[in-house]
Amino acid sequence: MIYALFYTFIGFMAMEFSGWFIHKYIMHGILWKIHKTHHAHTKGFFELNDLFSLLFASIAIVLIFLGIDRGDYRFWLGLGITIYGMSYFFLHDVLIHRRLKLFSKPKKGYLAGIFSAHQAHHYSKEKDGAVSFGLFIVPKKYFKNKGR
Ligand SMILES: [Zn+2]
Ligand SMILES: [Zn+2]
Repeated sequence: MIYALFYTFIGFMAMEFSGWFIHKYIMHGILWKIHKTHHAHTKGFFELNDLFSLLFASIAIVLIFLGIDRGDYRFWLGLGITIYGMSYFFLHDVLIHRRLKLFSKPKKGYLAGIFSAHQAHHYSKEKDGAVSFGLFIVPKKYFKNKGR
């Protein structure tokens, strides 16, 4: 059980850290053409940037299938990535960008902190000069002056 939790946690954390790296150096780098559809206001429900979600989802699906087949840790890694993807969807796409109008803007606590950190990321519509590339782990300063 500890084993399963450990690998699920590793899968989740690997997504936040590699996601930070990929976002900062690749999406705001060589793949900016795709990612900029998320920084510009585009019409319609889908953005070209959604391809990244599909890519990460397919990695998780492959790991889950391999893990079931061999009965090993890859299932749990894939599960961790899946949990990350679902949390990312609800926080980033639903709560922050309101692609589905389910929640209103959080006023205090952890959610308000990651909300303003991600808004700070979107202040820039350019490839260079953006800040705050992670989603769940963001600098402490975004949590200040909250909860008054
Ligand atoms: Zn970005
Ligand atoms: Zn965003």
